[in-house]
Parts: sequence; C-alpha cells; structure tokens
Amino acid sequence: MGANYCMSCGEALISRDINGTVRRACPSCSFVHWGSYSTGVGALVIREDKILLVRRAQEPGRGRWTNPGGFIEQHELIHETICREVLEETGIEAAVHSVVAVRDQPRDIHNLYIAFAMEYRGGEPVPDGIEVDGAGFFSLGEMEKMNVAPFTRWLVDVALNGKGEGLLPDEKPVVPLEGYGLFRV
Ligand SMILES: [Zn+2]
Repeated sequence: MGANYCMSCGEALISRDINGTVRRACPSCSFVHWGSYSTGVGALVIREDKILLVRRAQEPGRGRWTNPGGFIEQHELIHETICREVLEETGIEAAVHSVVAVRDQPRDIHNLYIAFAMEYRGGEPVPDGIEVDGAGFFSLGEMEKMNVAPFTRWLVDVALNGKGEGLLPDEKPVVPLEGYGLFRV
C-alpha cells in the first residue's frame, strides 16, 4: 500500500487526488502508484480421470499437494507461462484448452489467480526437485489420503465436475488485435 519513492525517477512521492481518489504520486514525473497486484496461473491437467498434482518443496505450503502453476511474467502471455510452468515443474507437456476458474483475493498485494483446463500431450511426471519434490497423476480416491491444499481441492472439483467448457482461446478475433491473449465464451 505505502510507497515512498518514485519507481521511475526516485523522487519522494506525495499524496495527490487523482480522479477522486488520493494516491501516492511523483511530483517530478508522471509516475502514480496505482496499487500492488500479483497474478497467478494454475494448470488442471487430466489423464485417464486422474489429475496432475505436485508436492511443494518450498514455503508457503511446503509438503502440500497442489496443481502445478506459478506467477505470470511481465512480457509473457499467460497461456505460454502455464505451459512452461507445467513442463518445468513436472516434465509434462500440456496444451491450454480453456480458462475454467478465477479466484479473486483483495489484500495488501491484490492477487488474481486464473486456472486453465489443459490437455495432456506427453511425458511422465518427474518433479523438478527445486520448487516441487513430488509429481504424479492422482484419482479422487488417492487424494483422500494425501495432504491436498484446500484451494486445490476446489480446483479439482472444477476440473472433474465443472459444467461447460469455460473461456476458449480466440485464435481468429473478428477485429485484428495484436499482442493480446484472448479468451472468450
Ligand atoms: Zn518520478
């Protein structure tokens, strides 16, 4: 929330009314601190009625099983990020099918999480040994005896019992829109 110095020129920020909201802004350049945000992406990869899970090797949530995922990068499309994260964490090749769930979490760093239904393409699960120390495809029955994170349980329900396909990638938008990742009903 609190920002003291300009990220652009280093000047001490001041509080200024911008369109009716008081924000921290730079008196020397155009920088405005709009807020702190982060975006996570998650993969729901299913093979033969089993879902791909990883065991976190790092905090937060060390020792817990979750679906693979990570935070987005500045200049990378989110559907490319999630394919890369799945491959890096588990050695599994998977392709994005659709966006099937969103979690909104307003807090000091406002977090948005986007979950993708993904198609298994190839590979056998092998944990990267850094971010995760376990990886595999598991059935609901097998998950009963595992330490699965509550939010992952919710996503597994979406993956296995969700109605509808979700938001599909729009490869040929009716208007040329360069540089956008587009998902639509
Ligand atoms: Zn500045």
